[in-house]
Amino acid sequence: MAMIINGDECTACGDCETVCPSHAISIRSGVFRIDAVSCTECEGDFDEPQCLSVCPIDYCIQFLED
Ligand code: SF4
Ligand code: SF4
Repeated sequence: MAMIINGDECTACGDCETVCPSHAISIRSGVFRIDAVSCTECEGDFDEPQCLSVCPIDYCIQFLED
């Protein structure tokens, strides 16, 4: 499982990138994305996804459905 950023909601504030322990978040062409392969949902590092915790926009970062 991994997280995904809803590009329609993201303001590109960058807060999520700095807290990710897996360095799974990066910006390309002004758009923040989460690498689904690298994202661990913060398991082993934190009790909850840190990107989700810090993102100021509701429903911007969500769980990627299979
Ligand atoms: S859930 Fe954790 S590992 Fe995955 S992108 Fe967010 S901060 Fe990074
Ligand atoms: S914290 Fe939320 S609004 Fe800010 S860059 Fe990350 S996904 Fe976008």
